[in-house]
Amino acid sequence: GSQRVDKKVDSVCPFCGVGCLVTYNVKDNKIVSVDGRDGPANHSRLCVKGRFGFDYAHSPQRLTVPLIRKSGVAKDPEALQHLNRDSADWSEVFREASWEEALALSAGSLKYLRDTHGKKSLAGFGSAKGSNEEAYLFQKLVRTGFGSNNVDHCTRLCHASSVAALLEGVGSGAVSNQVNDVAHSDLIFIIGSNPTANHPVAATWMKNAAKRGAKIVLADPRITDIGKYAWRTLQFKADTDVAMLNALIYTVIDEGLTDRDFIEKRASNFEALRENVKGYSPEAMAPICGIPAQTLREVAREFARARGAMILWGMGVSQHVHGTDNARCLIALSTVTGQIGKPGSGLHPLRGQNNVQGASDAGLIPMMYPNYQRVTDKAAHAWFEDFWKMPLDDQPGYTVVEIMHKALAPDSDPHKVRGMYIMGENPAMSDPDLNHARHALASLEHLVVQDIFMTETAWLADVVLPATAWPEKTGTVSNTDRMVQLGQQAIDPPGEARPDLWIIQQLATRMGLDWNYPGEHAGVAAVYEEMRQAMHAVISGISWERLQRESSVTYPCLSADDPGAPTVFMDRFDTDDGRVKLVPADIIPANERPDADYPFVLITGRQLEHWHTGSMTRRATVLDAIEPMATASLCGADLQALGLAAGDVVTVQSRRGEVAIHVRRDDGTPQGAVFIPFAYYEAAANLMTNAALDPFGKIPEFKYCAVAIRRG
Ligand code: SF4
Repeated sequence: GSQRVDKKVDSVCPFCGVGCLVTYNVKDNKIVSVDGRDGPANHSRLCVKGRFGFDYAHSPQRLTVPLIRKSGVAKDPEALQHLNRDSADWSEVFREASWEEALALSAGSLKYLRDTHGKKSLAGFGSAKGSNEEAYLFQKLVRTGFGSNNVDHCTRLCHASSVAALLEGVGSGAVSNQVNDVAHSDLIFIIGSNPTANHPVAATWMKNAAKRGAKIVLADPRITDIGKYAWRTLQFKADTDVAMLNALIYTVIDEGLTDRDFIEKRASNFEALRENVKGYSPEAMAPICGIPAQTLREVAREFARARGAMILWGMGVSQHVHGTDNARCLIALSTVTGQIGKPGSGLHPLRGQNNVQGASDAGLIPMMYPNYQRVTDKAAHAWFEDFWKMPLDDQPGYTVVEIMHKALAPDSDPHKVRGMYIMGENPAMSDPDLNHARHALASLEHLVVQDIFMTETAWLADVVLPATAWPEKTGTVSNTDRMVQLGQQAIDPPGEARPDLWIIQQLATRMGLDWNYPGEHAGVAAVYEEMRQAMHAVISGISWERLQRESSVTYPCLSADDPGAPTVFMDRFDTDDGRVKLVPADIIPANERPDADYPFVLITGRQLEHWHTGSMTRRATVLDAIEPMATASLCGADLQALGLAAGDVVTVQSRRGEVAIHVRRDDGTPQGAVFIPFAYYEAAANLMTNAALDPFGKIPEFKYCAVAIRRG
């Protein structure tokens, strides 16, 4: 724009996994506007969040001083239900402290718990909103300082099941093809995803492809905006993914549409898959999934015959107790049709957070070191013990929801979790069954929370450390397309807030670790270079200097002149034998089905203007103005049957909790279901959700539980 600014600083949008490159326009240490930069994922495009969602960084509610819980003030998880995030006064609960006192208290308490109760008594949640360098150092602190692998982050709530299926099937959890490769697709199969709201700039590539003539298929119980561009919409009954997908695979095999050569050369276990889908004809599955057999056959034919057919999916696939099975079916569909390993095809689990790909790559997960090397693998274990010069636990740690259970375990449990370090995540809003999760957090003997706002989780802390917002730091993030992208510090943090990377190091050295990362921005370049060594198999060609020069480099990238690989699996898969391992899946019902008392299905998710638990976007004035209020979406028929009109207030209640919320009419929501975004503290959807887990990915069933709806 023409507005006079002091400086323009290049960075990356802090919200979704699309990874749009931005330029912050800064005046008097304040961001005054944001421009889209010509990055490989966005070509200067931005959505409303990227363009207008920046002034949360300047919110008067920012934490600016370390805080310590006042002695005698109990942790009250029940109070969170009635807490007003915007007006609550934390001075009655916390007192201000110096950095020295706060760090010494937390490090000392965690050390005491570790030395008294053993290494498994501590756990850490890092963040997919932080940089790769923060994720890497955080997991290194937990593994070498806390002494166990009890480290996880919100990937567990997001694509953990997709990654479990992908690691098993194709040997790599990352996407095979980048989003804008849909430019080379004849068919774009979108399932369990609302890209217009959740990956808005990615959605524009899909819409542009449709304009060119590509056929979009939207498969989702809830029909959203992208459905307007679809050649076919498959509004299948919630929870019947496996039935519908197996029917597509059945059709491909039944009608002789398989890519025999591809299966022969590049897949294993096809016979077992073929045997298994025999019971899943479209005719038999139509009454189960609610899609006419003829439509299923049409879609299967078009998918198989396309020169390129790409599958993109979201949490609608992953957040089920059968999430891994859902993803196994998608892998099988791509494989039997030969729609993978070439441009315009492949498998793309759309990553949610801006750095959920990178944080997982960097090892912020309990079963794997950086670059998905299993902690149980003897060679990997030995390599990291040597690399970090510390003894390491060779058993996987607990996952997000398991850690909450372990916090409430009896005293006699040797693995009871008693102390936690939570950096930049808000499990008191984002975990399933919040009443349980909040009690678990409140029961900890020591909880240190590092964040930019007094989150619901921070309210339950012993120590709260004020951290830096994304525009206040320099670091890298990796987007859904496997692009490692550099953001530069644009503004100074407020008050005494400090870089997260600095805080992690301060706690580490106070817990006795001998760390030294010299250089500006808390040694970010030195941390990156150490991480690059730990992940040499995928990013050895991406040096810090190269990132400064190019802003964005796609991995795998193995040498300084390697341009990176936008499409992978062209010749072989990353499995041991180089082939896709096909894994048959059968129907497993949701953990909790509707019944007479709780007749509706609750579907949770996101919306365009607000990001996850809303701690940033609801403090961004423009976004808050556009979408100020929590709403529950119901179709017109259900509103009428319940005698409701849009704008009425209802109570939505599950066996675990309830919220009062305004209703909104949305005819894309199926009859018998209610959709509620989880961004609103005043009507926290996760009070109601079910913590039942997928056995492979350990992801909770956010997308399906039973609720009742009543007026008022
Ligand atoms: Fe940011 Fe995602 Fe919007 Fe791009 S599409 S501007 S990365 S929120």
